[in-house]
Amino acid sequence: MTLRWRLWLAQAPLALALVLVGVVAVVTLNRLGHSGQRILQDNYRSVLATQRMTEQLERMDSAALFIVAGERERGEAQQAAQRAVLESELAVQEGNVTEPGEAEATRGLRAAWARYRTVYDGFLEARTPEDRRTAYFVSVEPAFRDVKDAASAILALNQDAMVHKSEALRRQSDRVNTLMVLAVLAAFAVGLVSSTSLTHRALRPVSVLSQAVRRLGRGDYEVRAVVEGADEIAQLGQDFNSMAEALQQYRRSSLGELLQAQAASQAAIDSLPDPVVVFGADGALLNVNRSAEGVLRLSLEAGGDVLGRVVPEAREVLERVRGHVLGGKGAYQPRGYEEAVRVALPDGDRWLLPRGSPVYGETGEVVGATVILQDVTRLRRFDELKNDLVATVAHEFRTPLTSLRMAVHLVTEGVVGPVTEKQADLLFAAREDCERLQGIVDDLLDLSRIQAGQLQLEVRSVSAEELVDATLDAQRSQADERGVRLTKRVGLEVESVDVDPDRLELVLGNLVGNGVKHTPAGGEVEVRVSREGTRVRFEVRDTGEGIAPEQQARIFEKFYRAPGAPAGGAGLGLSIARDIVQAHGGELGVVSAPGQGSTFWFTLPQQAAAAEPT
Ligand code: ADP
Repeated sequence: MTLRWRLWLAQAPLALALVLVGVVAVVTLNRLGHSGQRILQDNYRSVLATQRMTEQLERMDSAALFIVAGERERGEAQQAAQRAVLESELAVQEGNVTEPGEAEATRGLRAAWARYRTVYDGFLEARTPEDRRTAYFVSVEPAFRDVKDAASAILALNQDAMVHKSEALRRQSDRVNTLMVLAVLAAFAVGLVSSTSLTHRALRPVSVLSQAVRRLGRGDYEVRAVVEGADEIAQLGQDFNSMAEALQQYRRSSLGELLQAQAASQAAIDSLPDPVVVFGADGALLNVNRSAEGVLRLSLEAGGDVLGRVVPEAREVLERVRGHVLGGKGAYQPRGYEEAVRVALPDGDRWLLPRGSPVYGETGEVVGATVILQDVTRLRRFDELKNDLVATVAHEFRTPLTSLRMAVHLVTEGVVGPVTEKQADLLFAAREDCERLQGIVDDLLDLSRIQAGQLQLEVRSVSAEELVDATLDAQRSQADERGVRLTKRVGLEVESVDVDPDRLELVLGNLVGNGVKHTPAGGEVEVRVSREGTRVRFEVRDTGEGIAPEQQARIFEKFYRAPGAPAGGAGLGLSIARDIVQAHGGELGVVSAPGQGSTFWFTLPQQAAAAEPT
């Protein structure tokens, strides 16, 4: 059955109740009408007949009085006219006997009337007026009264019956009224109850369906709507079930693919030999690979403060890189191998170098961070070997180089005998190379000392201006040779700085020397000193060729020399300078662009860091 039919059907009880009440009303009204009609038929007809008969009788009586009074002709005509009418009215009454006792009364009337007629005929036959008068008073008048009484009795009988019947009719109509009200109420109640229940039953599948839709919306893909029948709702239920089935299958398949992709990516990061740690946008640990579990003892299953169980050095590095990447500063690249942290393991120490990269969401926002701790243990060992070698070589070179320089110097000065001009030229060149070699060996020794943690600073308060002057004086001859101007601008607010003056002169000398080397003739190298908050800022600006951005991070590495750099250096100057500045508790950096000169800067705390070994 279709839904439309069901809804129609649900209205049916109410409609039926309405029809029933209508029928009852028509039938009872009909019955009331009939009762009224019967009263008219049964009694009113008799009342009319007896009243008319009484009228005729009175006219006959007055006709008799006319005759007694001597008006014989008029009296006879009048009484003759009344007889036929009276007769017909009596016949009507005789055909309309309806009440108990009415039949005897009618028979009595008929008898009285017969007697009256006989007596009247006798009265008419009397000859003398005296006889007529006597006959009238002796027999006609009493007979007249008898007939009239009999008619009155029938009249009273019928009037009483009318009063009774109308009383009964009123009572019946009262009953009908009550009955109608009750019938309307009952029909309304029954109709309403059955309509409501039918409507409810017709619409129950809709509520079943809507519940199923709600559960599906909440992610319950198992839900199915059980709707029986063949109507529109059942059809809708079947369509819903097919949709839920399709969704469930899709979810199963997409879930499967997702799990597969997850397993593949887990296998990929597990295959990496270095520890990999993945953080969510809120900084919580999302994933680790097998190496991280082994080396850092990180485990997702353990729960609680997972990072808290990692060795403090590695933990500090992880938190720093995580903060950098999640703070929106982009990927984290280490500055060099010195950033590697040591983690002690049963099979020996490991050195781990951190790198971090952001994980971006669909709209480009950072939703996580991946940190790789690259195992640089072997590289560090090589580095240490190299440092040892450098230190040994520098150390071993030093004594022979000193005697070599001394010998060349003595020969050049002619202490051991005269030298020709040509010999002198060669000896000068040899002496210059010896000096350069000495510089490199000194650099190497400084470096190995710094790396071995033997850099001892002798900090004192010195005038910044004097420091700059000493440096510029040392570089002046070289600058003049290259046609480069040396200038200074020392802020009045900077009087003295707490530094190891020899070391700092080395730093400034390196920077100014580099500036002179890389600035063409006619250019300028300027040293500026200014106050910057609680720090003193040194700047060495040149008007030289500048440094390409990709070189800027690398020039501070040991032994790094930019391609095409003039010969003579070992690529150690900037590395040493940075180490010395850092040992003072400061920072060193560069601002440069190709063709626009370079500005090397470093800052020092006003009260320089103590002369701690680094
Ligand atoms: P070196 O002693 O070989 O010059 P440094 O460590 O002092 O080594 O410098 C490293 C590299 O940095 C150099 O090879 C050079 O290319 C570059 N560099 C240093 N200072 C400047 C400068 N002022 N202008 C341009 N390039 C520079």
